[in-house]
Amino acid sequence: MERARPLPSRRRLLKGAALTVVPYALLPEARAGADTHAVDHPLAEWQPATSANRTSANRPTSHPIDLVIIHVTQTSYRKTLGVFRSPGKQVSAHYVVRSRDGNIAQCVREADIAWHAGNWDYNTRSIGIEHEGWVDRPAYFTDVLYEQSARLTADICAKYAIPRDRAHIIAHYEVPGSDHTDPGPHWDWERYMRLVERAGQ
Ligand SMILES: [Zn+2]
Repeated sequence: MERARPLPSRRRLLKGAALTVVPYALLPEARAGADTHAVDHPLAEWQPATSANRTSANRPTSHPIDLVIIHVTQTSYRKTLGVFRSPGKQVSAHYVVRSRDGNIAQCVREADIAWHAGNWDYNTRSIGIEHEGWVDRPAYFTDVLYEQSARLTADICAKYAIPRDRAHIIAHYEVPGSDHTDPGPHWDWERYMRLVERAGQ
């Protein structure tokens, strides 16, 4: 975590207290507020999508969040971030996970609505996670990509009390009205759900 820590004295105070385990989200500097560099997942780096490709909201107050939607990018990690930054592309996701090292980019705040499901109702209810790769190139689905994504999904499920099951962690192709096939037949759901379960314990 390379972000500046503006309140070292409070950090020391917290560390020195008997309660040594402080949830990241409770630390004052982790609050979103006006800080555009705030991320919702401690391992993510902030790579914002343009505001032209998302809808500002105040979830989960404005819209309950009860789904995680799994995608595959069909292009590179770098190009995906470029698309999300380009006004007029009309697409974004909350997170993008890189194939080679599992690096996680956060592009849209979880409180806001990303445009990834191709279905407005599902957009309002979900967190979208893109994975670098192609549906017909399973080599992109690396161990570290599965592991980092599963940690992220487990974190989201814990935060919003989303059940860690396939009714709530779904594929893009399972969204009603979707004409997309991602994450495709090579995405190992059994393995992924096992990792999500393990990470959530
Ligand atoms: Zn998709």
